[in-house]
Amino acid sequence: MLIPVRCFTCGALIGDKYEKFVNKVKEGEEPGKVLDGIGVRRYCCRRMILSNINIIDHVLPYYEVRAERQREYESEQY
Ligand SMILES: [Zn+2]
Repeated sequence: MLIPVRCFTCGALIGDKYEKFVNKVKEGEEPGKVLDGIGVRRYCCRRMILSNINIIDHVLPYYEVRAERQREYESEQY
């Protein structure tokens, strides 16, 4: 989903570094060197950033349909 604010293992702050990482990798830099450059050296923190997949855009339509069905259900009650 969204990047967690802190590393699950060591608690280091990583949420602020994800956007920098994504932008630099999109520009064509090597992911390992980008992580070194932004100061993410522990492998527990590196896996947090490397393994994150933004699926919020895929999940949101289901919540919209659910809300729509809830409204239909509530309008049928009398
Ligand atoms: Zn960590």
